Amino acid sequence: MKPLSLIVGALGVNCYIPYCEQTRQCALIDPGDRADRILGLIQRNNLKPKYILLTHGHFDHIGAVNELREQTGAQVGVHPEDLAMLTDPMKNLSSLAGVEPIKVSADIMVEDGMTLQVGNIRLKAIHTPGHTRGGLCYLAEGVLFTGDTLFAGSVGRTDLPGGSHHTLIKSIRQKLFILEDDLTVFPGHGPISSLRQERISNPYLQGREELEWE
Ligand SMILES: [Zn+2]
Ligand SMILES: [Zn+2]
Repeated sequence: MKPLSLIVGALGVNCYIPYCEQTRQCALIDPGDRADRILGLIQRNNLKPKYILLTHGHFDHIGAVNELREQTGAQVGVHPEDLAMLTDPMKNLSSLAGVEPIKVSADIMVEDGMTLQVGNIRLKAIHTPGHTRGGLCYLAEGVLFTGDTLFAGSVGRTDLPGGSHHTLIKSIRQKLFILEDDLTVFPGHGPISSLRQERISNPYLQGREELEWE
């Protein structure tokens, strides 16, 4: 499966659109800004959004949610531990970032292991706390959407409220590195990678000491 993607907002969030080629149903992962461009891409490709799936509650990932939900009727899914961030501009950091304060509500609580069906594709949610408490990755055929948990050659920052570096590394090792090596990694910012590449060369994930703490 190869998602559509576009880069939106001042912080350059990757908004991904995995879709079913047969039914044209799609999901919008992290529509952080520019609802107009996202809608244009959906329309040009004749897609019908079923879900808006948030990898976490930071403002840079949620800025276009309200408009897209209104325009498409798609249901918004978030992990319950990041729910409070959506409705509170202090918690989603929009009120500190010099952008319009953002308040978003959710329709579906997405828990670890839940599968969301989008046409003939299945997106499986994996709870990976560490960047935020309710961080989620989404696994589909051949692809892994990692939000701000795992980047090409880096990992998410953990100095914001709810962040924990130890928890983040543990999430990546115990929930992501057990998956197939040849998954393409689609991160929330920056270029794509593969799980194999990150396991081999990501400087934050070398050595075994983090595992031995457990
Ligand atoms: Zn973030
Ligand atoms: Zn981000």
